[in-house]
Amino acid sequence: MSCVFASDLHLSAGSPEKVDLFDAFMRRSAQTAQALYLLGDVFEIWLGDDDQSAPNPGVIRAMRQFSNSGARLFVMCGNRDFLIGANFIKETGATLLPDWQIIDLVATPTLLTHGDLLCTKDVEYQAFRQYVRDPKNQADFLALPLPERRQVAAKMRSGTQASMLEKDDFIMDVEQSTVERVMAEHGVAQLIHGHTHRPATHQFKSDGVQRERIVLGDWYGDACSIIVSTDDGLTRMSAAEFVANASA
Ligand code: MN
Repeated sequence: MSCVFASDLHLSAGSPEKVDLFDAFMRRSAQTAQALYLLGDVFEIWLGDDDQSAPNPGVIRAMRQFSNSGARLFVMCGNRDFLIGANFIKETGATLLPDWQIIDLVATPTLLTHGDLLCTKDVEYQAFRQYVRDPKNQADFLALPLPERRQVAAKMRSGTQASMLEKDDFIMDVEQSTVERVMAEHGVAQLIHGHTHRPATHQFKSDGVQRERIVLGDWYGDACSIIVSTDDGLTRMSAAEFVANASA
């Protein structure tokens, strides 16, 4: 059995082919994986669990079907879909993961995170993040009627705050010293994250420990990359390849 990791799918009504790929990806995962980890930004934007516009209902249905198959679904919030709430969790059968989660991956303690918290050089973004992650601010925003929330989000995208929300939230890379500190604090030699849209595996030594930082790719382009973990190790492949390959 295997574990599958994906991040930054950025599913939206504007890319129905990616939503279809996600549906096929979830079906294939249900057949081959014991656990699926979606490490944030599954959605291009999440305005609240009451938003029933496309692609949300279809994505939720695919997740529910996956959960019903008996495999475990783990979802982490990204910087686009941090308003995922209790209703979404109930409907999908997913388990919501906190910003930092350690799992045992083939006997290797592995730290999971979306990745934006590692981009500490982006001071402006970190301040914005703190604001939008504040429970009171979230409650205030969610109390607005959905059309108003949509307007606020659209304004953020086009207006002065664009630099913090939409404009390349992933333009900055992680700060190496933050990576080293966080990995030392959690006592792990392996880290998996997304967000930066810079798929790669980085090996380095810090505090005398050989460590590995594994970065997931996004689904914006054709790559749509994922990582499959088996007893033989981690394999990077495209979601389309995974869907087509029954032996994955
Ligand atoms: Mn992100």
